[in-house]
Amino acid sequence: MAKYIFVTGGVVSSLGKGIISASIGKLLQARGYSITIQKYDPYINIDPGTLNPYEHGECYVTVDGMETDLDLGHYERFTGIRTTRRNSVTTGRIYKTVIDRERRGDYLGKTIQVVPHITDEIKRRMLREEEDFDFVITEIGGTIGDIESAPFLEAIRQLRWELGRNAVNVHLTYVPYLKAADELKTKPTQHSVKEMQGMGIQPDVLVLRTEKHLSDNIRRKVASFCNVDLECVVQSEDMPSIYEVPVSMQSQGLDAAILRRFGIPVGEKPSMSSWHNFLDLQRRSLREVHVGLVGKYDLQDAYKSIRESLILAGIYNEVKVKIHFINSEEINDGTVADKLAGMAGVIICPGFGGRGIEGKIAAARYTRTHDIPTFGICLGMQMMVIEFARDVLGYTDANSREMDASTPHNVIDIMEDQKNIVDMGGTMRLGAYECALSPGSRVAAIYGQPLVSERHRHRYEFNNSYQNEYEAHGMKCTGRNPESGLVEIVEIPANKWYIGTQFHPEYASTVLAPHPLFMDFIKIIK
Ligand code: GLN
Repeated sequence: MAKYIFVTGGVVSSLGKGIISASIGKLLQARGYSITIQKYDPYINIDPGTLNPYEHGECYVTVDGMETDLDLGHYERFTGIRTTRRNSVTTGRIYKTVIDRERRGDYLGKTIQVVPHITDEIKRRMLREEEDFDFVITEIGGTIGDIESAPFLEAIRQLRWELGRNAVNVHLTYVPYLKAADELKTKPTQHSVKEMQGMGIQPDVLVLRTEKHLSDNIRRKVASFCNVDLECVVQSEDMPSIYEVPVSMQSQGLDAAILRRFGIPVGEKPSMSSWHNFLDLQRRSLREVHVGLVGKYDLQDAYKSIRESLILAGIYNEVKVKIHFINSEEINDGTVADKLAGMAGVIICPGFGGRGIEGKIAAARYTRTHDIPTFGICLGMQMMVIEFARDVLGYTDANSREMDASTPHNVIDIMEDQKNIVDMGGTMRLGAYECALSPGSRVAAIYGQPLVSERHRHRYEFNNSYQNEYEAHGMKCTGRNPESGLVEIVEIPANKWYIGTQFHPEYASTVLAPHPLFMDFIKIIK
């Protein structure tokens, strides 16, 4: 039978619950256990697919095509597991299931209520009974005390009662430092734990986020006020890199404390040698390489997986990738040289809608004609294709149907079977599809295999009726879906590195297995 770890957060948001959950997963894996990590988000959207990145950061896509919270990216990058649609659940999804069932008459005339119907559906999903894991880690989004997370906490309260020793709650709080008093304050933590207790949940393990080292006295105080063993009070200080967190948690015995709560013998501390090798490399990788990220969302989290993929590939190439966000709305033919000055390579980012696309096209033109290594991802690839049509093929009115359906030259178009879809949510080409690579192409050499599988999240496609023209003029279609013939990759072999992918390779990069395309991109520019 699986053991369940529930990760909650109190005091403030943005404490890094996702990183702690991923770290716990990593440490248990290192001990030979099979794990999964799932995220329960309190908002009403069915999934984050329709959310603006300004609201919610990047939308992460699972192999099976679910649009999810970016924390799933941390789970995959830290642990190497492949999450699925079952690993991301929102209040909206829970309610939709229950309401659909009510409409079908499945409740036989009963009054449908938050308790027990909503909480039962939450519990059913949390348990993952038909799968086989040693540990199921469940992270609850939001902060304790939010109205909307109450049903999740009630479900956890009931599960803890039902599962007894097989359930553990790890609660993350914040210990602020008051400069004027030169003191670290534990009161918010005490209040947050009280709030949990008021909901019938006694935390087993406390992880205290802090900007300053906490003395044993402070930990002792927290332990005694919060009914928690001293060894179960762990601190999470700010780290130079999020990838240091698992080893910091291990050295403080977080995994050991959790295992003890479950009554599992702790045994030897696993060595985590490949992780340590990675951290050693990271510490040694000091030479900076500058990459321009051309996009429209001026927010760190909006391109999270791309940023992490670049950083990881940098470390394995022993360089420190410095990422410079360049707002595509500020780029035009006049400003582009200035904006991209000093960049060893450029990423043209994914996106939706027309805002900022002319800047992406201007950037693609500049890097193509100045032979600056360029990686276009999804919308970025589409902009490379449009730029090439306008400047090389001579179709000055070329565009994507997404931006301009009236031009005679939709070099990026929509497939027939997509044309009648009116719903916005979950109706794109989503999830992993196969891609056959052209023998002799740069991408075939990079991947070192003829057939790969990569994740998608888009509605529009390269228009195959232009393929011969592109190829004749030097932009080659070197990756294709073997069934549909849709173009997945374009590249200009005459340039140093000019590759666009319709898919999102960034979702597949992990700490111990950085993505080959990012690896090669950094290798060329370093
Ligand atoms: N908006 C484009 C499409 O739907 C690209 C999407 C993306 O960049 N993820 O095809």
